[in-house]
Amino acid sequence: MSVTGKDSYDDNNIFARILRGEIPCNKIYEDDFALAFHDIHPQAPVHALVIPKGRYISLADFGATASNAEIAGYIRATALVASQLGVEESGYRAIANCGLNSHQEVPHFHTHIMGGRPLGRMLAP
Ligand code: 5GP
Repeated sequence: MSVTGKDSYDDNNIFARILRGEIPCNKIYEDDFALAFHDIHPQAPVHALVIPKGRYISLADFGATASNAEIAGYIRATALVASQLGVEESGYRAIANCGLNSHQEVPHFHTHIMGGRPLGRMLAP
């Protein structure tokens, strides 16, 4: 998976298909910049995914090539979704896997929002 570059973006990845409405999602929030929905295999009582509307492979791609408006809109949407999910006061974790070592599986940039219970330390020892 290349870090940036629209030639490398796979238009048939599962989140691109969700964005096009070809497959359903359990939607939480949507605006001009972002779509948020519940993860299909939740790893915490609250486990949501926030994805940008544009064709970005990873955080590296998004950070390097998205416009300032897209980046601002996406970050604002991500924080808003956490608030709407009711985990702002209790706390939550926002994770973006990026590239091979991270085990990123879906090649469309996304942030996991996890919460609803104490999450422990960030990485298993
Ligand atoms: P990654 O490993 O790429 O950071 O995370 C991908 C996430 O997408 C996983 O947590 C996985 O459960 C979730 N996922 C994969 N396919 C689907 C799907 O079709 N719908 C939803 N809602 N989540 C999905």
